[in-house]
Amino acid sequence: MKLNSLGFPRIGRQRELKFALEQYWREEINQTELQAIAADLRRTHWQWQADAGVELLPVGDFAFYDHVLTLSATLGVVPERHLQGDIDLDTLFRVARGRAPTGTPAPAAQMTKFFNTNYHYIVPELKEDQQFNLSWPQLWQEAEEAIAQGHQVKPVLLGPVTYLHLAKTVGGKFNKLALLPSLLAAYEQLLAKFASLGVTWVQLDEPILALELDAEWQQALRSSYQQLHGAPVKVLLASYYGSIAHHHELVSSLPVAGLHLDIVSDREQLALFADSLAAEQVLSAGVINGRNVWAAELDLLAETLAPYAHQLGDRLWLAPSCSLLHTPVDLSVEQQLAPELKALLAFAKQKLVELQELQLLLNEPLSAQAKAICERCQQLRLQRQQSRDAEVAARLAALTAQDFQRHSVFALRQQAQQQKLQLPLLPTTTIGSFPQTQAVRHLRSRWRKGEVSAAEYQNQLQQVTKDTIERQLKLGIDVLVHGEAERTDMVEYFGEQLAGVGFTQYGWVQSYGSRCVKPPLIYADVSRPQPMTLDWATYAQSLTDKPVKGMLTGPVTILHWSFCREDISRETVANQLALAIRDEVADLEQAGIGIIQIDEPAFREGLPLKQSDWQHYLDWAVAAFRLSASAVQDHTQIHTHMCYSEFNNTIAAIAAMDADVITIETSRSQMQLLDVFEAFEYPNEIGPGVYDIHSPNIPTEAEIVALMEKAAERIGLRQLWINPDCGLKTRQWEEVEPALRNMVNAARELRRRL
Ligand code: GLN
Ligand code: ZN
Repeated sequence: MKLNSLGFPRIGRQRELKFALEQYWREEINQTELQAIAADLRRTHWQWQADAGVELLPVGDFAFYDHVLTLSATLGVVPERHLQGDIDLDTLFRVARGRAPTGTPAPAAQMTKFFNTNYHYIVPELKEDQQFNLSWPQLWQEAEEAIAQGHQVKPVLLGPVTYLHLAKTVGGKFNKLALLPSLLAAYEQLLAKFASLGVTWVQLDEPILALELDAEWQQALRSSYQQLHGAPVKVLLASYYGSIAHHHELVSSLPVAGLHLDIVSDREQLALFADSLAAEQVLSAGVINGRNVWAAELDLLAETLAPYAHQLGDRLWLAPSCSLLHTPVDLSVEQQLAPELKALLAFAKQKLVELQELQLLLNEPLSAQAKAICERCQQLRLQRQQSRDAEVAARLAALTAQDFQRHSVFALRQQAQQQKLQLPLLPTTTIGSFPQTQAVRHLRSRWRKGEVSAAEYQNQLQQVTKDTIERQLKLGIDVLVHGEAERTDMVEYFGEQLAGVGFTQYGWVQSYGSRCVKPPLIYADVSRPQPMTLDWATYAQSLTDKPVKGMLTGPVTILHWSFCREDISRETVANQLALAIRDEVADLEQAGIGIIQIDEPAFREGLPLKQSDWQHYLDWAVAAFRLSASAVQDHTQIHTHMCYSEFNNTIAAIAAMDADVITIETSRSQMQLLDVFEAFEYPNEIGPGVYDIHSPNIPTEAEIVALMEKAAERIGLRQLWINPDCGLKTRQWEEVEPALRNMVNAARELRRRL
């Protein structure tokens, strides 16, 4: 039984790659120095995997920016605007970031989320007459590098069909699949190149198999693997991020030497595919979760796998469900984790050891070592049981339909709110955060280091809040916010105050390029020991008679941006989070806060890969939001915010959330994205963004008026608010103040015309 690694995090356990890249981009180190740091990381990561007993080490998982981009460069797919002479490392950076230490800047290529992960890839741009030529040697040079270090390697690349699927077409519409034959020819050359280095196995990843595919794409898979069957290497066809049971017939008919399946997402696939394997085919069982941070219950896994180990012998390989790219690197560097929490965890390096232990449980189940592993797993389960909080469970069990519903329908609430709040037509507001200045960040870091007392920290942030309120008053905004100066991150801030949520020091995961995120760990039942935002909200409200919005992060967003425990359903965790937020909402209302915003920017991210699974997700996600929002009286206005405008297939769910006001990002789309709201006859109030906060440009009054006129063609005036696309945290006051002044003036101008 081989251990199969699909890829290791490239960023380094102390984010060495991040820092090296940023130094290189600032021209503080040269390319040779950057290459040396990268080579060091690869050497270390290969060695760790070899030490854990992985025989065929993955190559191609390393990338300076993104592995999809590396593959594009390998295939010679580089937009002309970035191609200045031969492809080199700076070409890749120009594609990814628009600029590099050498070459002329040009607009960066588009970046988007990789399937249902928080990893972002650079979207390949394909022209109708696209040529594919092996143009960038990184992949085979890395294979040579590992071989020179005494390893056997297994190059890992995105397969041709997924690559095409992820690409976008430029310069007119055409069917991407027409490019498949020439793309396959390039893959054949690449595989031959690997074979010439002595490589025997190549892994081709086709995660699109986790999607529903129409006949054309299914046929593309069929013809591609038929053709690659002739290559002088064995192909391991890998899928992950979801079950591919729905493509069983197709996949089992493909002439590949092996299949890798994400067993974590669907255990039933084991029996299904094991029975249809061809005589020599290998099955790589992805049983260790590559998307999460929790230690596996290896004894139970061994029990599940034992019959297949028996059936398949050495044709069964053991693997993580996907590349370990989505997990932090090494738990052993954490010094501040509570031992109870640490015992529940396994990061990338630990997951390799888990594979090795699983192998041992299957090969030598009666050994003393195996017994010790099983005892540890028992212990782990006991501890997981202790993460239950009887009070939380009782509260959840006692919920009734009433708890998920406001007292009255929207039309009645709207009247009550109008009477209470007395807002003008087209009220102006902002989304929550105001510029986080260097001074604020510096203050927080000194407070965290203990150099500034809690009282002093509080005091200084109050000054910042006061200043933020005064600026908004001067601008004449109708509904104010306190500015979120006390928050580094909208999820972290709440996570730090919730019971059941933990934090690491180095649990970083690559999001894109050099950007990493450190998601909170939801490891136990969640509850709110004490109010989280009440002091800030009431302080801000004490400074003015105008309404100040309370500002909370919603349960669905906290869930998606955290590593979530797996011993209970995500739905249950969402409801636990919802109860915690609900308590905060109730406290805010009690304290006289009349408008409360519950942000859900990650709501859409949770949509499953298969459309047929969407409804179930939407049902529980909407319910969790409603649970968080429904404890208030009719006259208390609930807002939500989502910073995207792709509502085509989800508008019914958005309406079902029943927020009194929703603010969305629309400024770039010229309000076209309101079409779905119009067609749906969306009943509640909407604030379509009129200020693109991602750009340093300051929108003029006339531009804002024009945007709102477009909005008013689609949505009734009484339903409309005026606000920016999103929070203003990353902007400067020098841009924000004139932009908001123009926004307020635009509102006044529009009111005057009525
Ligand atoms: N209230 C948050 C802010 O303004 C919302 C951020 C977001 O939508 N991502 O920063
Ligand atoms: Zn936003």
